[in-house]
Amino acid sequence: MDLLAILNNLTTKALSGQKPTYDEALTVLRSKDDDLMDVIAAAFRVRRCYFGKRVKLNFLVNLKSGLCPEDCFYCSQRRGSDTEILKYTWLKPDEAVALAGAGISGGARRVCLVASGRGPTDRDIDRVAHVIGAIKTAHPKVEVCACLGLLSDGQAARLRAAGADAYNHNLNTAGERYPSICTTHTYDDRVDTVRRAQRAGLSPCSGIIAGMGERDEDLVDVALALRELTPDSVPVNFLIPFAGTPLGTEWNLTPQYCLRILAMVRFVCPDAEVRLAGGREIHLGSMQPLALYLANSIFLGDYLTSEGQESHRDLKMIAEAGFTVEGLDSTKPVAVGGPERVALRQRGAGTDLPPNA
Ligand code: SF4
Repeated sequence: MDLLAILNNLTTKALSGQKPTYDEALTVLRSKDDDLMDVIAAAFRVRRCYFGKRVKLNFLVNLKSGLCPEDCFYCSQRRGSDTEILKYTWLKPDEAVALAGAGISGGARRVCLVASGRGPTDRDIDRVAHVIGAIKTAHPKVEVCACLGLLSDGQAARLRAAGADAYNHNLNTAGERYPSICTTHTYDDRVDTVRRAQRAGLSPCSGIIAGMGERDEDLVDVALALRELTPDSVPVNFLIPFAGTPLGTEWNLTPQYCLRILAMVRFVCPDAEVRLAGGREIHLGSMQPLALYLANSIFLGDYLTSEGQESHRDLKMIAEAGFTVEGLDSTKPVAVGGPERVALRQRGAGTDLPPNA
């Protein structure tokens, strides 16, 4: 079957909620760069059916940074990491609530409260519950997601009771590869936490990190495993190879491949909120707007330990591409130009300054 026929099949299946075959998902990842626009067009039909042209903005608050005893090879907060990240223990509740408020003012409809570490103690749950309660009181319509590592008995229920809407815990990569990216906990530990969150009534959020040296098959495996877990949202991270971590030299991704990964995830989890997450700026570069045709959600602002694109540039990118920010929906096209944006030339010919070349 030729690629267009396979894409057509994938779209039809996704629109009726059917699972693609392993080979169909693999074909998306292995399609040629020259066929990229066909892949995007097919996956966009699925995205548009479930989410229109809305983009949900999420905002990260790193409650506790670095100093983690775990050894996740991709993470700048791991034990022994030489990356010069900010390291601090729990933010004061008022500070966390104020940071969340800044993200909400910027347009975020979900706040993700994240803390480094293997998993929370019961005292940590108390602290985070307090922050969740304060955010929900001030912004009842905003979703709060917690991301605190592996959960033990009763902790998910306590977060839910405090008002948390969701819990994030990524599968990251295929189960078979897990020992090559972490030795201090297992893939099964991660699956267990996603299930605990789900059982407690928290909306499960679980995704991947691509670019860690995995094969195409591994990405299909983890996407299909995620589908089985029925997450409501699927963050797709592209590895940020932090110098000072074991994966600090893994620059394996091209913008085209990143877009194919997003399309494959969209076909496998058609009605899930697919979130364009860490690494989009460095791996997609000027191709970022194309990702909006596949993902329906992005992070606004900075990541946990690295800076993201300026938030006003994200909003401009969304408007220029003809998408709308969720919660600020408008059917009116947004004009992004204007006289104040025209910079009159003051360099090159007719001046003493060098040209823009
Ligand atoms: S991913 Fe989480 S558990 Fe792993 S090293 Fe980083 S902060 Fe620790």
